[in-house]
Formats: sequence, structure tokens, C-alpha cells
Amino acid sequence: MPFHLPEPWRVKVVEPISLPTEKEREERLQKAGFNLFDVPAEAVFIDLLTDSGTSAMSDNQWAGLMRGDESYAGARNYYHFEAAVTEIFGFSHFVPVHQGRVAENLLFSTLVQPDMIVPNNNHFDTTRANIEIHRGLAVDLVIPEGRDPAAEHPFKGNIDLERVRRLFEETPRSRIPLAMLTLTNNSGGGQPVSLANIRAYSELCREFGIPFYIDACRFAENAFFIQQREPGQQEKSIPQIVREIFDLADGCTMSAKKDGLANMGGFLASRDDELIETIKQRLILIEGFPTYGGLAGRDLEAVARGLWEVMDPEYLRFRVSQVGAFGERMAELGIPIIQPVGGHAVYIDARSFLSHIPQSEFPAQALVVALYRGGGVRGVEVGSVMFGRKDPETGEDVYPELDLVRLAVPRRVYTNTHLRYVCDVLEVIRDEPERVKGLNMVYEAPVLRHFTARFEEIEVGVGVGQPS
Ligand SMILES: *Cc1c(COP(=O)(O)O)cnc(C)c1O
Repeated sequence: MPFHLPEPWRVKVVEPISLPTEKEREERLQKAGFNLFDVPAEAVFIDLLTDSGTSAMSDNQWAGLMRGDESYAGARNYYHFEAAVTEIFGFSHFVPVHQGRVAENLLFSTLVQPDMIVPNNNHFDTTRANIEIHRGLAVDLVIPEGRDPAAEHPFKGNIDLERVRRLFEETPRSRIPLAMLTLTNNSGGGQPVSLANIRAYSELCREFGIPFYIDACRFAENAFFIQQREPGQQEKSIPQIVREIFDLADGCTMSAKKDGLANMGGFLASRDDELIETIKQRLILIEGFPTYGGLAGRDLEAVARGLWEVMDPEYLRFRVSQVGAFGERMAELGIPIIQPVGGHAVYIDARSFLSHIPQSEFPAQALVVALYRGGGVRGVEVGSVMFGRKDPETGEDVYPELDLVRLAVPRRVYTNTHLRYVCDVLEVIRDEPERVKGLNMVYEAPVLRHFTARFEEIEVGVGVGQPS
């Protein structure tokens, strides 16, 4: 039964949202060139663009803001942050940063040189970019099931240990400065990694003398999947599983905008104290003094409290079941989604949903437009707009395998009723999919084109007056 678990919190403060009129939505779309990144958030009713930095803080976190100590050095909130990092993750050397990509920047600018290789299940885009900017190679080695949207597997985020071993055997040790693993696998649909896989990967890294770092953004959601799905893990508490995971690693990068339940923050942790000392010099140059790292004292406090709160089993049970039920409802409606549903988002297969729109007319972007037009809902295209490109030799358009719409669920922000409404909007689209029009891209920037691209709708039956 979808949507059976109620929210394990009650509402103390409300933030009004409203559905713009049909006319206003139409004007917003036109003005934005059918790119939802260019629609002001206030004109969005239900915003499922991302789960990053969009969490609702608890009364305990808001109270913590008032306890912010804005001293330049050694603020009390730094010590609370330190206690959370050492007690939860077991790392005694770390630096706070203002968001995850700065942890990546610091780590890779220190360790990666040209032609070096960094394996991962799937590199997140900022991770990949921070490796490639040093002319390193970011290699994705997720198991084959993780690349097949139809495959059922409880841990589709697992890394392919055979391929890792081959890579380690065929590459001189000096060319692999570190190995990464992303929990949960964001670029692979938020799929979890099993404890057994983490342990085996960690042992492989140790065998070859390669430091093992975890991209920890959704560590608590991943630990919950382990507790629920992995044989022999049911009796352990979430903090126990988390500690067991990180005891296997040499360090981690963390964006507290995800499982830190904060709107800003992150950290880089390591067992290598010399490395952290080196990194502190660079931190001072680009972020700030090592006891605040680009954050206000109050932000440090919000993260310190969020890291503990996110491990609450009742919160996690609701979180994962809410996202799961959201996907289940869509599946019931016959809307093609990627199965099984991951921890933080539902992905719709737009090529199959809108089969009348060819890939050259951006079916996933067309669905994003239809969701906003139909109900003021904002999702994000993960398909031909984001990943398509012109072949530099033939000049032909190259499209990715999948055209997906990601509906990411912010933490503790929307109720089941809100998500039910999104399903209702999708149901209307499902009933008359051919009303959704394909798009022509009329402007694209040379890099990261999805943020600024502009489109025009393709009218069917050119010159015959009004669209339906
Ligand atoms: C969000 C994210 C990052 C980057 O963190 P920011 O806080 O956005 O800089 C890195 N890795 C993964 C898996 C993420 O989801």
C-alpha cells in the first residue's frame, strides 16, 4: 500500500507555497525558453529539482543556530562538529568546508596528477570534474546491473570487484592515488552499496596499497538499505552500521547538504594526519581558517546536529518509504520508472513514457515542461540535454542511452499529500501523452549547456493554427 507511513514529525512553522495560474505558468515557460532552471523558485509549486541543500531543519537545529559562536578561531560549534565527525565516522583528522565539491577540490588537487586513475562505482559530476581538471581519469566501475535500468538487484550501486582487481593488476600503483566509492550511488539513481561490497573493495585496496575514500553524501540512507536488505544486518543499529562502513575507509568527502540535513556545509576527513595538515594550508587559501572552513559558527552547529538526527531510524524508515511509495504509485499508474527506486529520487523513463517524441526533440525535457505546465511541478532532465553532444569528427548529434526525468525528494519538506499531487499531475499527462510537444534547442552554451539552454516547442502540423 503506497503512502501508508505518516511523517514522523509535526509541523511547527509553515512556509506558504502556491500554484501559479495556468496563464502565469505559460508565461513563465515562454520567458524561460522552456528551461526550468530559469524559472524563479517562487513560481514553482512543488520543487523536486534536487535534494541538495533543500532539507527542512528541525527545531533542534534551528535552536542550534542561536548557539552559533562567530569567533574567528576555535568557536564552540567547531568542537561540536568535531565530536560528530569523530564519534559517527571515526575519523580524527578533518577539515570543514562549505560544500562537498570543496572537499573534492582539496583532496584531488593534492593527490591527482596527469594520467592518474581514480576508480569509483559512478563518479558524481563534480567529483569527475575535480579529477579531470588535473588531467586525471575518473573511471566508473559499477556492476553491470547498475547500468541496466530494468535489472532488479538489492544493491545496484555495488562496484564491480573483478574489474577493480584487473585495473589494480594492470596499472602501476603510482598511477592510482586513491580509490573512491559513492554511497548511495547518486549518478546511478541513488542505488545503495552493500556492506559486503564495501568490505571486499576495502580489502582489495589494502592488498594493493591504495587509499580508500568514501563519497559519503547519503551515508545514512545507504546504511538504512544495508540494515533492511543485507542478510545478517537487521540486528545492528544505524550508527553501528555507519561506523562499520567508515572503519573500512581511509577517509571521506561529505556534502552536508544531503545527509547532513543542512542547507550548507561539508567536510573532508582522513586517517592520514600529514595529508590533512597539507590540505589545511590550501584550505586557508580558498575557504578559511581550519576551525570554520567557509562556514559560519551557526552553520557548523546545524551540520553537527543534523549528522546525528539523520541516523534516527524512524526518520530513515519514513524517508526511504516515502520515496519508495512515490515511485510505487507512479508504477501503479503505468508510468515507466527506473526500478528499484533509490534513496532520494524517482527517475521516469521519458523515451518510453512519451514514445511519440524522438530523442532529437528531447523527450525528458518535454516531460519536465509538461510537469510544470500541468501542475507547477519542477523536476530535472537527466538525458539528451545534459549529456548529448556533437561528435567533434562527424558533427553528428550523439545521445545518451537514457532520457530520464529525475524527481528528487527534499528531506522533511514535502508531505505524502504533496507527492500524491505530483502523481495526479503525471496521471493527467499519461492519459493524453501525445499532447506533450517535442522541443528544438535554439541556444546552447559550450559547457554545461543544460543550465542555460533555451528551447522552442515544435508545433505538430505546421501552419494549422492553434496547438491542441
Ligand atoms: C552533491 C554531491 C557532491 C557535491 O557536493 P556539493 O555540496 O553539491 O558541492 C558530491 N558527490 C555526490 C555523490 C553528491 O551527491
